[in-house]
Amino acid sequence: MTNNLKSNILEINNLTVSFDGFKALNNLNFSIEQGELRVIIGPNGAGKTTFLDIITGKVKPTEGNVFFKGKNLRKFSEHQIARLGIGRKFQTPRIYLNLTVRENLDLTVNPQKNVFKTLFNPVRNNEKRTVAGLLETIGLTAKAELKADLLSHGEKQRLEIGMLVAQSPDLLLVDEPVAGLTDEETENVGALLLELAQSHSIIVIEHDMEFVRQIAKKVTVLHQGSVLCEGSMDQIQNDPKVIEVYLGEEQQHD
Ligand code: ADP
Ligand code: MG
Repeated sequence: MTNNLKSNILEINNLTVSFDGFKALNNLNFSIEQGELRVIIGPNGAGKTTFLDIITGKVKPTEGNVFFKGKNLRKFSEHQIARLGIGRKFQTPRIYLNLTVRENLDLTVNPQKNVFKTLFNPVRNNEKRTVAGLLETIGLTAKAELKADLLSHGEKQRLEIGMLVAQSPDLLLVDEPVAGLTDEETENVGALLLELAQSHSIIVIEHDMEFVRQIAKKVTVLHQGSVLCEGSMDQIQNDPKVIEVYLGEEQQHD
């Protein structure tokens, strides 16, 4: 491992993913620093979901490599990569609707008292979270004893983010967390991600530009499987390449 990888929790080099010859990702280069919150935007078909699938090991590179904490992920399975410290939040919440908020969190904080798991899965450097602390973080203390079924869509999103955080991932991948949320819940989820960003590295994929503006420091724009440009929200919005790509998309939808 070379020294310049040291402060990058994730580094992707010359990555290409081909599906029957079609390059969903095309010679992509990307890195984020330890502790960074990065937002990724891009028109439909840009490769955003494939990008997350590559990081979690669901899809393997055709060419190129992904390094997480200096480890080449090529030889690891999806399950092993999760255990290395990468957690993914899917678009639709995956929570137990018939259990209470507290029970949902309990399950992830104290997974079945499996001796082998405890022996061979040492606690990672992030301090172990308590259910009470998690309830506080996700703002659901008052609803702890409610069945998850009764939560609003936004509260369900926050609960699932809490369940993810309970597993102490070093890198959190979050796919469109505010799709379909009210303005108020969008702000709540934004505030939660900003708080989590103080102790995690986070990649968020998002379409909602107002939300991106709320949380983003640095934004990466994907287009046709490659990085089109990177920078602050202001830089991105004034970049003629970005404007062209998004105008093109709007015209297709008309
Ligand atoms: P985004 O999430 O940015 O909309 P995707 O990563 O889902 O983009 O897809 C990028 C491109 O790759 C699209 O053109 C899509 O049709 C294609 N693609 C994605 N997954 C597959 C697959 N399993 N087989 C064939 N083509 C795929
Ligand atoms: Mg997608």
